[in-house]
Amino acid sequence: MKKVYVTRKIPELGIQMLRGKGYEVDVSSKNRPLTKKELIKALQKKEYDAVLSLLTDNIDKEIMDAAPTVKIYANFAIGFNNFDIAEAKKRNIYLTNTPGGGADRVAEHTWALILALSCRVVEGDRYIRKGKYNGWDPMLLHGTKLAQKTLGIIGTGRIGTDVAHRAKNGFGMNVVYYDVKRNEQLEKDYGAVFYPTVEEILKIADVVSIHVPLMESTHHLINESRLKLMKPDSYLINTSRGPVIDEVALTKALKNKTIRGAGLDVFEFEPKLAKGLAKLDNVVLTPHIASGTEEARCDMARLSAQNIIDCLEGVVPKNIVL
Ligand code: NAD
Repeated sequence: MKKVYVTRKIPELGIQMLRGKGYEVDVSSKNRPLTKKELIKALQKKEYDAVLSLLTDNIDKEIMDAAPTVKIYANFAIGFNNFDIAEAKKRNIYLTNTPGGGADRVAEHTWALILALSCRVVEGDRYIRKGKYNGWDPMLLHGTKLAQKTLGIIGTGRIGTDVAHRAKNGFGMNVVYYDVKRNEQLEKDYGAVFYPTVEEILKIADVVSIHVPLMESTHHLINESRLKLMKPDSYLINTSRGPVIDEVALTKALKNKTIRGAGLDVFEFEPKLAKGLAKLDNVVLTPHIASGTEEARCDMARLSAQNIIDCLEGVVPKNIVL
């Protein structure tokens, strides 16, 4: 009987798909990410054929050494920066993700952050709850109109494209973008204008939204010197991965108001935040929930389980990461 280890509870649909194939499926009983030691211990209990992993599981050489029979690590995530890809390649182990599982939802969440900032939703809510609201005031909490302003997208894959779609068709914004690959479809569909450097986007955009994967080349893509290029009334949004932004530098920029605000769903050292970040009024924070809907989580469960089934049935899984 094939054996599968699932590192944390996921929607039952995924577990049922695996059990439906007759596999023995063990799910971690801990309602938190496993430490490396715990994961190694769990994987050494049986000769597992497959692991359904989360983005919080660092799948590196040590883990692969501890579980030599595992043929696939199937991430329950779009991102895959938790994988040591080179190590898996050496061992012919499949690494997969769940592309598309929740991408549209991440785009919606990106817009929730943009609108929360531009309409000052969170500040307004806090203002009322603190009992400060004494009636209509023409000078109170001015926000930013988005129509005709420029949205700069960094990384125009699935999520970046969905964000562009909403910008153009929902909010009448102009779209400019930077990506390592030119995206002619985006230009055709949304009149998006390509700029060949991140710097140019930062200089001209009123809202900058980041949608790149976390890799060596994108670590601290937004750093102190690049933050200085942004317009003083601009917003920075990050729903990709925390380490893409130097969070200490961003906190400083927000504190000194060299940019107007930031909307963050992800953090450099999750769940910890840079010192002082949570004290600032010009930042809206959400706890890595951009793909957190029942539909998206079920899609992710289905896709990750299917990748395992394909592998264990001798079919090449659809969602192999590079
Ligand atoms: P994708 O692979 O479809 O698109 C990524 C784009 O980034 C591609 O167009 C690629 O060419 C571009 N890119 C790569 N390196 C670049 C660089 N150095 N500079 C500029 N562009 C670069 O991925 P996606 O589905 O759009 O997802 C993007 C990221 O969003 C994921 O990798 C994941 O980390 C993150 N994500 C976060 C959440 C969340 O809950 N907050 C949920 C899902 C995904």
